[in-house]
Amino acid sequence: MTVNRRTVGFNFLEQPELPAPQVSEEQAEHILHERYGLRARAKSLGSQQDRNFTVISPDESVAGVLKIANPAFNTTELQAQDLAADLIATAEPGLRVAVPLPNVAGEKCTTITGLVDRPAYVRLLKYLPGGTLLQSGYLSPTAVASLGDVAGRVSRALAGFTHPGLDRILQWDLRHGTDVVTALISHVSDPAHRSALQSTAHQAWSRIAPLADDLPRQAVHLDLTDANVVVSRDSGAAHADGVIDFGDLTDTWAVAELAIAASCVLGHAGSDPASVLPAIRAFNAIRPLCASEAEALWPLLVLRTAVLIVSGAQQAALDPDNDYVTEQSDGEWRMFEQAISVPMDVMTEVIKADLGLGRAPEAVEVTTPLIDAAAVTLDLSTTSDVYDDGGWLTTDFEDLQARAAVADGADLVVTVYAQPRLNRAPKLSQDSPAVVPTGIGMWPASEIELMAPWDGEVVDASVDGITFRGSGYELTLTGVSAVTSGSVRAGETLAHASAQQWVQVAVRPAGAPAAPPFTTAELAPGWLALTRDPRPLLGLGSTETRSSGDLLSRRDASFAQVQEHYYRTPPQVERGWRNYLLSTRGRCYLDMVNNVTVLGHAHPRVAATAARQLRKLNTNSRFNYEAVVEFSERLAATLPDPLDTVFLVNSGSEASDLAIRLATAATGRRDVVAVREAYHGWTYGTDAVSTSIADNPNALATRPEWVHTVESPNSFRGKYRGAEAVRYADDAVAQIEELISDGRAPAGFICESVYGNAGGMALPDGYLQRVYAAVRAGGGLAISDEVQVGYGRLGEWFWGFQQQNAVPDIVSIAKSTGNGYPLGAVITSREVADRFASQGYFFSSTGGSPLSCAIGIAVLDVLEEEALQQNASRVGAHLKAGLQALQQRHPIIGTVHGIGLYLGVEMVRDPLTLEPATEETAAICDRMLELGVIIQPTGDHLNILKTKPPLCIDVEGADFYVASLDRVLTEGW
Ligand code: PMP
Repeated sequence: MTVNRRTVGFNFLEQPELPAPQVSEEQAEHILHERYGLRARAKSLGSQQDRNFTVISPDESVAGVLKIANPAFNTTELQAQDLAADLIATAEPGLRVAVPLPNVAGEKCTTITGLVDRPAYVRLLKYLPGGTLLQSGYLSPTAVASLGDVAGRVSRALAGFTHPGLDRILQWDLRHGTDVVTALISHVSDPAHRSALQSTAHQAWSRIAPLADDLPRQAVHLDLTDANVVVSRDSGAAHADGVIDFGDLTDTWAVAELAIAASCVLGHAGSDPASVLPAIRAFNAIRPLCASEAEALWPLLVLRTAVLIVSGAQQAALDPDNDYVTEQSDGEWRMFEQAISVPMDVMTEVIKADLGLGRAPEAVEVTTPLIDAAAVTLDLSTTSDVYDDGGWLTTDFEDLQARAAVADGADLVVTVYAQPRLNRAPKLSQDSPAVVPTGIGMWPASEIELMAPWDGEVVDASVDGITFRGSGYELTLTGVSAVTSGSVRAGETLAHASAQQWVQVAVRPAGAPAAPPFTTAELAPGWLALTRDPRPLLGLGSTETRSSGDLLSRRDASFAQVQEHYYRTPPQVERGWRNYLLSTRGRCYLDMVNNVTVLGHAHPRVAATAARQLRKLNTNSRFNYEAVVEFSERLAATLPDPLDTVFLVNSGSEASDLAIRLATAATGRRDVVAVREAYHGWTYGTDAVSTSIADNPNALATRPEWVHTVESPNSFRGKYRGAEAVRYADDAVAQIEELISDGRAPAGFICESVYGNAGGMALPDGYLQRVYAAVRAGGGLAISDEVQVGYGRLGEWFWGFQQQNAVPDIVSIAKSTGNGYPLGAVITSREVADRFASQGYFFSSTGGSPLSCAIGIAVLDVLEEEALQQNASRVGAHLKAGLQALQQRHPIIGTVHGIGLYLGVEMVRDPLTLEPATEETAAICDRMLELGVIIQPTGDHLNILKTKPPLCIDVEGADFYVASLDRVLTEGW
């Protein structure tokens, strides 16, 4: 598009060079004083074509930004910009806007002569604190969405704004994008870069031009990038909510506002084309895009990145000392490379699908089937049984499955189009893996002929494959030998396929780009819109990929919402194996949080034991069977004397509740002492002794009068720190003695033997010995809640109380006991157990069932056989050293708590005040999920990464966790 016409304002095509006006800080200070009555310092700020200064008051607060417009712009244009800023500020009170402030004469624009060779137009703009989005490394989906939201609001507010000053031709106006690239390309020195930029601009334009007349126009800010969007950081991650710099305001395509805003996302660390989607979604929610806009959006974004590079190259040539211009070029290349990393048509389809504007592709019609054979379909989705017992990690997995199906009598084995294949997912990967097939595989039992499905033309044939065009489609067969060329009629032989080898079948509408055989879940909607399911070619119906609908809405509708879920948009996890969790999108996550599955997920011994026992017997402990005896003996054998008598229940809450009841029954008292900031369960009794505000914000205010709490013995951030921490025992002992002397001697003292809520922090030396002694001196009992920390996780010790060299009277356990199967236990002395008779019988219908006992025994066996306690010690030490090394480089890591595989990485905003980095920790966990790691916050301030993976984790997994955390802390969250 060439525009040779007069404009009210600036015309870039007539005057392509715009060096920023040369004005010194002293001159700016003079203007501030004379024209604005301000005695302030002016500090030069970066800008490509204007000259900007931060205005600093004598008290060091920022009073505004002084902007000296490039003399190429006239007052009509500047007036339009000032009016637009005021209009947006009024229309969108939720947005912060850099509106112009009046000078001493009450004018928003100050004209100054003699400063540069023409009259200079100066404005003092309102300063918006918080910094811009440019200062963030990685942009989270929330930050990207906030950018789209700001762009949507600006677009909505400017929709009806007209002004003669909008009539201008700027190099940023994408209507002129290809002209700008052509005009400025000579400034790019590398010939390969020049050709890439030019061909990209032309490809983009060939898609935009046919839509141009359907793209609505309006006033557009045209520069809502990370540099001009101001953020608030009150919630840890940056959230865009302010707009500055209206210098590029123009009447042009409304959708350009979004294309330009979204493009800047690609300059940020860790982003890829799909990272822009939250911005598009947010913009669309405020200012819905029409079909043509959705179609034009990605080509416009690509064009924008090309314009930025040529403009930057030109500006660098004009103004070689402008650091702002030269610093930006790396980010701009990243944007361009990311923008062209996926074919434009594919990203357009991804965007349309995301906005609900995609259309279901029509099924391919066939004249003659490609093959005359009965096919067996191989299900390779995450939920398929083929992966049981770790099958997904087998190499040549697809060949093995196909051979097995043929051995079972199949003539032809086919895979499923569009179905994410778990076996293609690497165990540890920070990138979303290419697991979604854009075609199908066929594995014939014996050599076969493949027939032309329609009349058509062979367009490419080689020793390894053939591409055949007909009926509006292109069929590509790979792994076959072509036997024909030229025109072929439906039913004639196209190629031969060997027995027991894969043939890949891909179908795409003629003219669509050739798809890679596998793509990522993020790009799949794009590639699948541009390919077709080949199954109809085999005479088979298209496979419906099973969808669980909107699982979260269904969950919210049926499952009480106080049972919260991890993550705002969690992956759908339907399989686990060892220390991995596997999603239906074919992603493997490193599981750093599931302490319950000590042996690892889906342990075959546990599964086989459960299946066998369920087939034989499952009843209750009122019957006489061996498993309940054997399991009780085995449990008691892990504990020191006199802990030899076992109760079996179903959960940690039940176990700790029963422990409290045992203490009250045995002592005939009702008062209980508990440690603050602890969690012991959800039952009436355990909830009463739980005061962790992370689990219940009102916990401390709602204690029943029989519960007495002592200070949480936190040696990192509590009342006593470091060496002083021994004093927690003094205080607790004094409190217990006071209760005794008040005639309220406690029935018991309940405490986790390692401070779990604080991320596995060891209790101060001697703490349990001293507190247990005080309780016992008053006739009470010591309860150790080992639900989280016991069972080998600490590596050096099987039980947490061993670390303290103390022996409790009652131990409650669960979680690990059943490796995820509901199984809890209380172990105490014969004497304490017998005294429960004062309460009547104890019976739990499924506690101690043959099934739970068989599982409990299997778990103990595997723990021992696989030496998992030793593994916890070895890998745990390695992991802790890796995390401590990170602490040296990342000040946000306040400390690394814990031992063995119960570790806690505590995040602080300030190493001196230890202000908890709560929001940061939440954002870090979200980013870790994107990088393939499942980790969650714990602690009363939710600022500790609770690092307690299954005990089978290896050094490779531990290193992946450390490397991913390092990346997040380096790139940002
Ligand atoms: N005690 C402790 C220390 C726990 O961490 C928990 C669970 N988080 C419980 C008891 C309760 O266990 P459950 O969820 O199995 O009832």
